[in-house]
Amino acid sequence: MGLDPVSLKIALGVVAFTLCLLFFGAFRRTRSPYSGWWCLALVFLLSGNVAYLLSGTSQQIWAVPLGSTLLVSGSFSVWAGSRSLRLLPMPWWQLLTGPIVTAVAAALENPATNVWSGGLVYLAMMSMGMGLATVELWRLKPSASHAHRSLAAAAGVLAAFFLCQGVAYLVEGPDGPDFGTYLSSASTSVVTLVLLVSVSFSMTALSNEQLINGLNERATHDGLTGLLNRTAFMELATQEINRLHSAGSVSTLILADLDHFKAVNDSHGHAAGDTAIQAFAAACRASVRNTDLVGRYGGEEFTILLPGANVESAEIVASEISRRLAAAKSSEGITFPTVSYGIAPSTANDAEITHMIAAADKALYQAKSLGRNRVVCATS
Ligand code: GH3
Ligand code: MG
Ligand code: MG
Repeated sequence: MGLDPVSLKIALGVVAFTLCLLFFGAFRRTRSPYSGWWCLALVFLLSGNVAYLLSGTSQQIWAVPLGSTLLVSGSFSVWAGSRSLRLLPMPWWQLLTGPIVTAVAAALENPATNVWSGGLVYLAMMSMGMGLATVELWRLKPSASHAHRSLAAAAGVLAAFFLCQGVAYLVEGPDGPDFGTYLSSASTSVVTLVLLVSVSFSMTALSNEQLINGLNERATHDGLTGLLNRTAFMELATQEINRLHSAGSVSTLILADLDHFKAVNDSHGHAAGDTAIQAFAAACRASVRNTDLVGRYGGEEFTILLPGANVESAEIVASEISRRLAAAKSSEGITFPTVSYGIAPSTANDAEITHMIAAADKALYQAKSLGRNRVVCATS
């Protein structure tokens, strides 16, 4: 059964146009870079195929080079979209190289009479764009998404298809038996159609996952410091304390409060106060292990849970945080405030986060009344 290439191109165009509208809607709602790039790729695919419809007419001289250039732009946009998933930027010169090389090659090979002008470069560039996208998608961390492997496979199939077309073109030319039968523009349309739909489906899943991850991050982290917010800290700390308690191990909580912090705001302004809070958060991050939990409890008060650590280790951590904060320099030349700490361990009978915080708060109150800039342990 012979497939009519023009009808197939129209069908492809209709599908691409519908998907493009759907993705544009998604991009406007979510601003996810990936759906933006995919939308752009669909526009290129659509307009490239429209331009190709004019091959064989008097307009072929510009329609064929333009069609090839637009399709390669689409392939490179898929690459850019895959890079955006890995949060990597896409330099413009890299993005433009493929389309420019394709346009030059097509223009040089007599496009007025040659339907396949620049065909080899076009196929090589299509394969390269999809191949690079495959590599980027494959290198995505599995935790980032579950859909990326099927997406990488789809992009890989398309890259391999264009590579086979390129090899057949090189070996037997565009009029050869294999190129004409299996790798013709009609079969390209069918393969592209199937992959368009499957890639779009995975893409939607990916965009949603990106959106959910972003919302989850915002719901659990403090905007100023990037530390856990109070709710997330309490939840994670409860889980961790319970886990350690049932394993017969301890954990220790530090409650930290910046000293005379109001004075920083009053004399240097609110922005300077924010900088001091961020500097304290940075000092905390640098002083703890990645299994420890650090949260902004509220205002200039912070909670740190050290799983498996005793009170002595917690004292060392608190001193280390203060040492780092004192050594940190602010760009405005402000001296950062000192910090008071209250420390409370879990006990064999009591491993309740709220009780640990209450005990640490009492110790912190003592540290303040003893003159600030010190560590007081609930047991001492
Ligand atoms: P003490 O040594 O007794 O802890 O005194 P303090 O001045 O640190 O404590 P106080 O509770 O009187 O003041 C805390 C101040 O922290 C008041 C509040 O305006 C300020 N603050 C809370 N959150 C923020 C914030 O996000 N940014 C800034 N710049 N200031 C904040
Ligand atoms: Mg306070
Ligand atoms: Mg304070």
